[in-house]
Amino acid sequence: MSTIFDKILGGEIPCHRVYEDDHVLAFLDIAPLSKGHTLVIPKEAKAHLHELSDESAAALGRALPRICRAVLAASGASAYNVLQNNGVKAHQAVRYVHFHIVPKKSGRGLGIGWDPAILDDETARELLEAMHAALAAE
Ligand code: 5GP
Repeated sequence: MSTIFDKILGGEIPCHRVYEDDHVLAFLDIAPLSKGHTLVIPKEAKAHLHELSDESAAALGRALPRICRAVLAASGASAYNVLQNNGVKAHQAVRYVHFHIVPKKSGRGLGIGWDPAILDDETARELLEAMHAALAAE
């Protein structure tokens, strides 16, 4: 299924390009939460982060801090959030992997709701067992 970001990558619709390399494209968000709000996408077309190849993941890891530095320089902010949503329940509107870099300055930026529980030992044990098994199967 083609998304708006496939179309931006394909040059069918324009964007304000911030950065590009063989694996990554970054451009300004069309509806910024704050001045400088930037989106970073892999050129590999996947809906969710966990579906990406190691190659794309490594390229994103390399590019993200550089692009964050550019966003800070351009916005004059010293604080920012990096947000990456996966799935409709997690607020993902565009079904194509993307990272938001959102400067936090003068009250503008990302609002966060945080409702923590307390981790108990039994839950931690169960989680680690399942996660270690999943990682061993990679
Ligand atoms: P999500 O909720 O999926 O994490 O965020 C999608 C983001 O894509 C939103 O912040 C939205 O403003 C941005 N967006 C949607 N359509 C376009 C577009 O056509 N161009 C650009 N530059 N950003 C877009």
